[in-house]
Amino acid sequence: MPLTSLRVDAQRLSASVQSLGEIGSYLDEPSGLRGVNRLALTAEDAKARRQIMSWMEELELEVSVDPIGNVYGKLAGSRDLAPLLIGSHIDSVPSGGIFDGSLGVLSGLEIVRVLREAKRTPERPLVISFFTEEEGCRFGTDMLGSAVATGRIELAQAYALTDRDGITVEQALEAIGFLGTASAPKPHAFLELHIEQGPVLLRGEHEVGLVTGVQAIRWQELEIQGRSAHAGTTPTYLRRDAGLAAARINVSLRDMCTSGDYGEMRATVGRNQFHPGRVNVIPSGCSLTVDVRNLDDEAMGRAAADLEVLYLKLEAEEGVIIERRVTAETRTVRFDEGIRTRMARVASDLGLDAHELVSGAGHDAQEWASVCPAGVVFATGENEGISHNPREFSTVAQCEAAANVLLQVALELLEA
Ligand SMILES: [Zn+2]
Repeated sequence: MPLTSLRVDAQRLSASVQSLGEIGSYLDEPSGLRGVNRLALTAEDAKARRQIMSWMEELELEVSVDPIGNVYGKLAGSRDLAPLLIGSHIDSVPSGGIFDGSLGVLSGLEIVRVLREAKRTPERPLVISFFTEEEGCRFGTDMLGSAVATGRIELAQAYALTDRDGITVEQALEAIGFLGTASAPKPHAFLELHIEQGPVLLRGEHEVGLVTGVQAIRWQELEIQGRSAHAGTTPTYLRRDAGLAAARINVSLRDMCTSGDYGEMRATVGRNQFHPGRVNVIPSGCSLTVDVRNLDDEAMGRAAADLEVLYLKLEAEEGVIIERRVTAETRTVRFDEGIRTRMARVASDLGLDAHELVSGAGHDAQEWASVCPAGVVFATGENEGISHNPREFSTVAQCEAAANVLLQVALELLEA
């Protein structure tokens, strides 16, 4: 299929990213940069949601909200066919940048603007969407909105998840007015544009990334119970030090990653909190999180089993109890080859250097891949592709390249 002459307006796209990035913006003292703190279903998230909905309404999209708070803006097609769904997320981690998620949602809106300007009605409906709690930072389960919309997670189970203050997802949705009743669309295909959040594209001087799949991800929350005691008087052999057990878990995870026994495994202890947390008290408790990722489901399974063995060993050796709970678990995902082939052809016709890669991060598209053909295009990022950090940055040209691939592939799928 030849390229159409339509292109995104890169300045307009960039202006909308900057504008949305004002919402929840904060000054990062160490860097002097502005970051974004827009945790899911907070007042800041609600404000950003309403901003996008008002842009959707300006574009005369039919806006609806589903029971988990996912928002859809529908551009009618000339025929009543299953829609092409384009979406991502607008929630952020507490120390986020302005591109993560938002660039994908706003690129979708930019496509609608281009279609409106060209006075083109696609054959299929086009739905632009954003999904609740993609980051998993507030309620502990990532890709929550898209997982519910596609049936991997039950609505009741999602509603019951709580944040640190005991507020449930359902209460939070209600508080910001996003407890919707619309049903999620049954799409013909799903497309997502996202920043790479890694260094591969920049290092290879590639202008866009074509994503083949996503790593398997497994999160655990651990509560280690030991016994608090005097730091000076308690002999080593009598200690039941929850903090030490936590440290051994972290060190063992690194050893597992570097051993090569589990392929390309990555592991992170991102939260580690001691109780009571005093200089001269042996920790009686430690709460920590374990994030493990792998490109290979089999190796992931082995790592999970070996971690269990490790926990049992630490319970015996350190005299602690380790309560563990899996809070997120997704297998590796392969994206649709047909869509990727289209993306590759379109990128080449646009004169862009495209590179195929696996995503190290989870994305909404992986949930939608279970119900329809799905594809993801990555925008290259500066600063080693850093993300979840105020230094996260993609140039206007980097955003434009990925958005034009998204536009052209969308145009094809809207007529298919
Ligand atoms: Zn994201």
